[in-house]
Amino acid sequence: MTEVAQEKTGLGNYFVANYPPFSFWKPAHLSAAQAVLQAPPKPETPLGLYLHIPFCRKRCKFCYFRVYTDKNARDVETYLDALVKEVSLCARQPLVGGRPLKYVYFGGGTPSYLSATQLRGLMTRLQQVLPWTGAEEVTFECEPGTLQEHKLEALREMGVTRLSLGVENFDYNILEYNGRAHHTEEIYRAYGWARHLGFDQINIDLIAGMVGETWDNWRDCVRKTLELAPESVTIYQMELPYNTVFSRELKMVGQDEPTTMGSIADWPTKRAWVDYAFTQMTAAGYEISSAYTLVKNKARTRFVYRDSLWRGADMFGTGVASFGHLNGVHLQNVDTWEEYIARLERDELPLNRALPVTPHQLLIREMILQLKTGHLERTYFQNKFGVNILDEFAEPFQHLADEGFLTLSPEGVDLTRAGLLQIDRHLPLFFEPEHITTRYT
Ligand code: SF4
Repeated sequence: MTEVAQEKTGLGNYFVANYPPFSFWKPAHLSAAQAVLQAPPKPETPLGLYLHIPFCRKRCKFCYFRVYTDKNARDVETYLDALVKEVSLCARQPLVGGRPLKYVYFGGGTPSYLSATQLRGLMTRLQQVLPWTGAEEVTFECEPGTLQEHKLEALREMGVTRLSLGVENFDYNILEYNGRAHHTEEIYRAYGWARHLGFDQINIDLIAGMVGETWDNWRDCVRKTLELAPESVTIYQMELPYNTVFSRELKMVGQDEPTTMGSIADWPTKRAWVDYAFTQMTAAGYEISSAYTLVKNKARTRFVYRDSLWRGADMFGTGVASFGHLNGVHLQNVDTWEEYIARLERDELPLNRALPVTPHQLLIREMILQLKTGHLERTYFQNKFGVNILDEFAEPFQHLADEGFLTLSPEGVDLTRAGLLQIDRHLPLFFEPEHITTRYT
């Protein structure tokens, strides 16, 4: 592929969420998952819980997640019953070993799609089977248009500490064209209620490069975000994964054709937009905490879920199609509604595929995930894996240093701004050879 072709926003994922790639996770490895569930935990390993709520009011045109837009109230109840059952099965596994939950994450889909009554019922039942009273963080993802004040009150009462608002853009037409369900005024209404109710941390999600985005509008989005002054801002660069409405439309019109809202920004433009946001937000006092996140105060505003996972924590991934990691084994649940519900009706964990990860792969995984923070500490890896990463990965580090993407020192590695803005496309340099050219998912 030429450099020019690489810089266009083509079809496919480039974001690296895990390692080894998902395509290597297989049903044949499920015995490893069963074995790890039966074994005691490794000392000092934190435990977290992810809950997938797979409902959305409508499907965004860039979305490839397992979500449902056609379920009725009875279906939702069926799903929530299954989810509670799954968490109770997880709680009984020897692997828990009496550990309290360090973090809980309600993701989606749209967790805030659930009514206040459903949320209270769900959270009360979950707390009975696997309590999170001592958790350092409980994150809850919200679509602004689904929020009401009393729903937010319920979340506050149920111990949610980190509220993540999927704002994505402030422009009515861009939201509409990209298939988002919420409108601009709903962002302000939801944010006002959340602020008033005193959540510890509000995060605003933005996407750089939604179809129709322009420099003027992006500047406006950054300014409006700063006016709201959330504790945390997360910015993703728009991708065009396979199996989305946009990817099908693009195949029909040809990839170079502009859509009715204009062309899709190339990667250099999206990086320039994120760079602009980083510059404006750091000037306003924010600190960069990863390639995608800025926070008002690094010491106070932590993101326990992310930092725990990136440092090898255990996590039960519950809900249809969810991903988890337990003591060196990757796991994923079945990815169809029918199979998920049926397995839990039979009191079985709904696991579909797994991958036992070798110690060297665990090292690569933690290293590439922590690279996203912009900094690697040599002694952390030396102490945990007995490996000097500067020697072990001397070649790719030197290559990236020569390109101006990072600097090396005896203490570790620091990414430059240019390196941080395009870190995901460079991570395959650290992969084992058989993982380099495979499609990521
Ligand atoms: S709200 Fe999120 S999960 Fe739901 S359709 Fe949009 S992108 Fe997908």
